Amino acid sequence: MSVFSHNDFADHEQVVFCCDPSAGLKAIIAIHNTNRGPALGGCRMWPYKSDDEALQDVLRLSRGMTYKSAIANLNLGGGKSVIIGNPRTDKTEALLRAMGQFLEGLGGRYIVAEDAGTHVEDIKIMGQETQYVVGVLDKATGEGGMRSGDPSPATAYGVLVALKAAVKYRLGRDDLKGLKVAIQGVGNVGYRLAKYLKEAGAQVWVADIYDDQVRRAVHELGVTPVSVDQIFGLDVDVFAPCALGSALNDDTLPQLRAKVVAGSANNQLAEERHDKELMTRGILYAPDYVINAGGLIDVSYERFGYDRDKLVKHIEGIYDTLMEIFERARSEQLPTGMVADHIAEERFRKS
Ligand code: NAD
Repeated sequence: MSVFSHNDFADHEQVVFCCDPSAGLKAIIAIHNTNRGPALGGCRMWPYKSDDEALQDVLRLSRGMTYKSAIANLNLGGGKSVIIGNPRTDKTEALLRAMGQFLEGLGGRYIVAEDAGTHVEDIKIMGQETQYVVGVLDKATGEGGMRSGDPSPATAYGVLVALKAAVKYRLGRDDLKGLKVAIQGVGNVGYRLAKYLKEAGAQVWVADIYDDQVRRAVHELGVTPVSVDQIFGLDVDVFAPCALGSALNDDTLPQLRAKVVAGSANNQLAEERHDKELMTRGILYAPDYVINAGGLIDVSYERFGYDRDKLVKHIEGIYDTLMEIFERARSEQLPTGMVADHIAEERFRKS
């Protein structure tokens, strides 16, 4: 396994390999860039088939966090961690505490949050060993209630804001009434996005690999179910990928009839070239890490001091950021994903 010469190394500042046999812990912490501030990113627990696979995942994810923090105007850098193991069978308190101790040893250069395979409760256990955790505080919802550290509501709200910007830019529409939206994946974020859209008067179609997720959305929100294969080719205005990565690929792109792609999923483009392909097809792509930053912004406020009004304004700033990206993409005749990268790089490289 190579590290410095790894294809995804991308000038990482620090990569830490953590091993604690007594706790059954094998983990990698990757810190990509701290020019704007300490690296913040989730801890993923996954039964990787090899150490190489784990390293590749953590390097890619960590670099992505640098871009996401920079584009979201946060004084944070990018980092991520992975624990090698099955989250259903290998996760123990000892393992999580051992991870917490390694994090504490980094002295705050990396701050951890939840990710696939870890939950708020797991991060709280790590937090018994380290102060460098976020996504663990209960917060006011603004409707008189409280919610846990789960970032999904903030992510969904950010996607809604972004979707409005994209619809305004591409379709010249100021409201969502009657807008047709297809949502792929109605989990934590997709379900909430569907709810916002229905409340705004949009028509919503959903697909999910789990029938119970679909049934819940249909029953509670009145959306229309379609199969996981049909969701791409619907005659809608917006396609919102809110499932896993690579939704936009050589098979799905030719099927798309939507004029806008705006969803929460990370790494929506199967390959970089699909960014240009979307542009060529006249589909406005709202770059994934720009529009799904609401959750990151939300958890970051736990470190900067939680202020709900400021937080909401910050998330709503995604609208202007996207408009800047769309404008630059038009004037420079470049794909939107590439323009987002350029803006993020200007921000984290010069600071
Ligand atoms: P989730 O697991 O709660 O929901 C994902 C849903 O997609 C699930 O219901 C799953 O069954 C469904 N799904 C998976 N593959 C599918 C397919 N091929 N077709 C249709 N449905 C499929 O996850 P989430 O927290 O809602 O996150 C959704 C996406 O947004 C992920 O890519 C995640 O990385 C990204 N994201 C989430 C957050 C957050 O705050 N939760 C923040 C940033 C990015």
